[in-house]
Amino acid sequence: MTNILLIYTGGTIGMIKNPLTGELESFNFKHIHDHVPELGRLNVHIESISFEEPIDSSEMNLGHWKNMAELVRDHYDKYDGFVILHGSDTMAFSASALSFMLQGLKKPVVFTGSQLPIGTIRTDGKENLITAIEIAGMQDEDGHPILQEVAVYFEYSLYRGNRSSKISANQFEAFQSPNYPELAKAGVQIEWQKDRLYRSSLGKLEVFTEFSNELALIRLFPGINFDVYETIFTNSQVKAIVLETYGSGNAPSDAKFQALITHFIQRGGVVLNITQCGSGAVQQGAYQTSSFFEKVGVVSGRNLTSEAAITKLMYLLGQTSTATLTQKLQESLVGEMD
Ligand code: ASP
Repeated sequence: MTNILLIYTGGTIGMIKNPLTGELESFNFKHIHDHVPELGRLNVHIESISFEEPIDSSEMNLGHWKNMAELVRDHYDKYDGFVILHGSDTMAFSASALSFMLQGLKKPVVFTGSQLPIGTIRTDGKENLITAIEIAGMQDEDGHPILQEVAVYFEYSLYRGNRSSKISANQFEAFQSPNYPELAKAGVQIEWQKDRLYRSSLGKLEVFTEFSNELALIRLFPGINFDVYETIFTNSQVKAIVLETYGSGNAPSDAKFQALITHFIQRGGVVLNITQCGSGAVQQGAYQTSSFFEKVGVVSGRNLTSEAAITKLMYLLGQTSTATLTQKLQESLVGEMD
C-alpha cells in the first residue's frame, strides 16, 4: 500500500451545497471520506491536511505557494505521493510555481480540482480526486514512483504542471497543455507516456521558496498607448517585464515603445518575450517586427506559457543576480519549455 498526503487548499472541489440556504460552503476536509466513500476502496493509505482557511484560488499568493512547498518538504519522507486540491482558476500558476520551488522531486505532486463541487450529483470532482490519488500512488516494477514531477490532473488527462493552462470556465475539460503532450491519459487503464515524463538530474529534493513579485505583465493590442505604460517601465520596483506579443514574438515598431524597452534594459531590467497565441513559440528575428527585440537584448521565452513565464521570473528574481538571471531564463530548468 502506498501512502498519499492530500493537501486541501480550497476551491470548488471541497464544497457542498447547504440544503437550507442553497449556498456553496466549504466542508470540513477531515470528513472527506463521508463525501467520497470510494476512497476507502482504493489500495492506498490516505491522510489529509487542510489550509486553516481554505481559499478561492483567486486569493493565491507567494505565501500560499511557500506554504504548499513546505508542506511537501516537511512530509516528503513519510509519503509516496502528494495530491494538492486547488481551485482551478489559478491552478496552472500554482503548479508552475511549485515546479520551480520543488526541484529534484523523486515523488509525484499532482494538482487537481473540479468545476462542480464534490457534493453535487454531476460533479467532476470525484473522478478527478480518485484518479489523481491513484496516479500519485503508482509505482514501477522497481517500486519507484512513475511520476516524479509536479503535474495537473483534470478530466482524464495528466499534464506537466508548468505546461498547463486553464482554457475553459465551464467545460469539464478545463485544462490544456498546448506545447507539450499529455503525460498520461486515464481510460479503462492509466496509459502512461513514459518518454514524456520529467526526470531531474538533482540527487535530492531542493526547495526554493524565495520568490519575488517585482515584475509586470504587458499584453500588446493594436492601438496600445505606450504613454499609459510608461510608469511600469520607469518604476524602480519593476525588475522584469513579461511581454505578451503577437504570433511568433512580434510587436509594433513604435518609437516610444522601443525607447522604453531600451532604457529599461539599460538600467538592468529584464524583458521576456512570450506569445499571446495559445500554442507555438517566439522566434525573435523571424520578422522585421521582432528583430528590434533581438538587437536590444529582449529574452525570447520560446514556448513558455504565461503562467510558467511569470513564475519562472518570480523564482529567478528571488534567487539570482540579474547577470545570471538572463542566462538562466534561456535554459529549460524543470521541463518548462523547449
Ligand atoms: N473560483 C474557484 C477557484 O479557483 C473555481 C474552482 O475551484 O474551480 O477557487
